[in-house]
Amino acid sequence: MSDAASRPLKDLRGVGPAIAEALSRLSLQTLSDLWFHLPLRYEDRTRITPIRDLRHGESAQVEAVVDAVERGFRFRPMLRVTVSDDSRSTLTLRFFHFSKAQAEGFVPGLRLRIYGEAREAAGGFEIVHPRYQRVQLDTPLDSALTPVYPATEGIGQSTLIRLAKLALAALPDDAELDVLPEALRRMAHLPSLGEALRVVHAPPNSTDVAALLARSHPAQQRLAFDELLAHQIGMRKLRRHLRAMPAPIIKYDRKRRRAFLDALPFALTKAQGRVLGDIDRDLAAGKPMLRLVQGDVGSGKTVVAALAALAASDAHVQTAVMAPTELLAEQHLRNFLNWCEPLGLRVVWLAGKVTGKARAKALADIAAGADIVIGTHALMQEGVVFANLGLAIIDEQHRFGVHQRLALRNKGRDGTRTPHQLVMTATPIPRTLAMAAYADLDVSVIDELPPGRTPVQTVAVSDARRDEIVERIRVACAEGRQAYWVCPLIEESEQLEAKAAQATYEDLQGALPDVRIGLLHGRMKPRDKQSVMDAFKAGELRLLVATTVIEVGVDVPNASLMVIDNAERLGLAQLHQLRGRVGRGAAASSCVLVWQPPLSALARERLAVMRETNDGFRIAEKDLELRGPGEVVGTRQTGEMNFRVADLVRDAEVMPKVAQAADWLLEHDPRAADALVSRWIGQAVEYAQA
Ligand code: ADP
Ligand code: MG
Repeated sequence: MSDAASRPLKDLRGVGPAIAEALSRLSLQTLSDLWFHLPLRYEDRTRITPIRDLRHGESAQVEAVVDAVERGFRFRPMLRVTVSDDSRSTLTLRFFHFSKAQAEGFVPGLRLRIYGEAREAAGGFEIVHPRYQRVQLDTPLDSALTPVYPATEGIGQSTLIRLAKLALAALPDDAELDVLPEALRRMAHLPSLGEALRVVHAPPNSTDVAALLARSHPAQQRLAFDELLAHQIGMRKLRRHLRAMPAPIIKYDRKRRRAFLDALPFALTKAQGRVLGDIDRDLAAGKPMLRLVQGDVGSGKTVVAALAALAASDAHVQTAVMAPTELLAEQHLRNFLNWCEPLGLRVVWLAGKVTGKARAKALADIAAGADIVIGTHALMQEGVVFANLGLAIIDEQHRFGVHQRLALRNKGRDGTRTPHQLVMTATPIPRTLAMAAYADLDVSVIDELPPGRTPVQTVAVSDARRDEIVERIRVACAEGRQAYWVCPLIEESEQLEAKAAQATYEDLQGALPDVRIGLLHGRMKPRDKQSVMDAFKAGELRLLVATTVIEVGVDVPNASLMVIDNAERLGLAQLHQLRGRVGRGAAASSCVLVWQPPLSALARERLAVMRETNDGFRIAEKDLELRGPGEVVGTRQTGEMNFRVADLVRDAEVMPKVAQAADWLLEHDPRAADALVSRWIGQAVEYAQA
């Protein structure tokens, strides 16, 4: 990069030690840092809004004359300045922190330009702590938008604006600054980097103001492109780094695989077979597998994972299977025991609640080379030492973060070999988003459900019709079917959720005396949970009242009715997961979404989507549209993907071009690729250098 880029900020005019210190608190050390310290938003001071036209919650500039000044000290100091304008409306300016000089500066008759967010208060509009300046009748308006930067104590907006201008003046020409090849830039219809930076920091008069405010200006798109590209390159580099390490060569034993498949009560679907083929190839290649298996709820990912674990044991390496909840991990345990123990594999259980002697025994078995270890986060704890971990399987990957995945992988690094990684998710995410979120992974999709499944019929009914729902359960249970009743709560409190489930359980027991009902929530002892699950699986319990603990993975094919209470509170992904607990057998299944009025427009739309489709892919796309990517990909994960200008929903369509650009740069200009990563991500992100 150019010399200008690495010049320290204290070289700039007016940057003394105090300002330099404040700048470094914003991680701003060099000119380049300042170029990429982008405005959060803009203030439009190019026009005046009459007070009469102010709107609650919107920022505006007003020009008005001071009518009255009032200082009060009720609970704390307070300054109220009343102003009015030609629209003959009044506006109150309110200050809680102010200096004496500032208060005395307001005198009736003084003409001010005021900028801030208007709120509607009892006595009309007010603005709290507005920015203001004295003006004359003929003071010209700003001709351009005013940027607002992320600031910190000791450094104000005006200083940042001034410094940004100085830094921009030292911007080298594009040949030096811009890492995107010209052809690519033109193909994506993007301005040069220098041009983009000049526009966002100091929008010229001719700028499309509306576009800039809406963050859709080409200059912003250019910067978003670079930011996405930097993340893409960071993830690719992580991938390359991993793939450069040797991994155990795993070739499955044909006889044992045949024995496994012959013992299954079903044949693999074509899609399962294809995905297993992808995994077989990866495992045999001598490089660490990095594969994401995506498959809708109920598509049969578990058995594919078990076949991979069997292959690992054929090659005498261990497999770790990690699930996000204990309930799901236990279910895996039972499946793996069922499928793998008859073939002579040793399966070990390790969850957080395994303590004392049992834990010591589990740890000893793991260290002695047990074939398959199944558990929760507990698998990643210190003290868990594998003899030779060769395959790490992570179920419901969206519940974990990238770093947790890396932590489990690190368990198996013995300096020479890196374990293979297989991650599975039932949260189908649109392809463009997957490109951004999982750039370090190869993706296989199980795009087919096992045969004989009938789509779940979904209805949404108001809570006022609870009696009808209870009757429906009674009929279903009398017909030999089984049902779930899920009680979610909005609070993230297991305790409150458990209470709600308990209350519903008692209600339903009163209403359905002939139905054997079970209760399941996260506060129960693992053994009790297990016995309830077992009884439900065995059909002894006909109705299971549960909290959202059953959200992921639980599999009881005979259950064909799902009631979800307070469905209006849940997001689409969660509703889809919960609904996926039914429709697993041959019986026609249904799902009743019970909602409490009032129903927000958003909730109404979500329920409509659930009624319309069972397609996890469509639902994910809708979810992305309604909620934004953070929650679709999983909060932890996007927590590590904090974008400054990019927005995965808005910018999704450029992802294919971003991926192309990443390929090109990594191949032709690796130094520029590195520069881009440090420009946008710096050293802060683990995955950029892991
Ligand atoms: P998910 O992909 O949601 O994790 P599971 O692995 O839990 O799905 O599988 C759902 C159910 O489908 C399980 O009962 C499983 O045994 C069953 N299953 C898996 N594959 C097949 C298949 N090819 N044919 C019939 N049933 C299958
Ligand atoms: Mg599953």
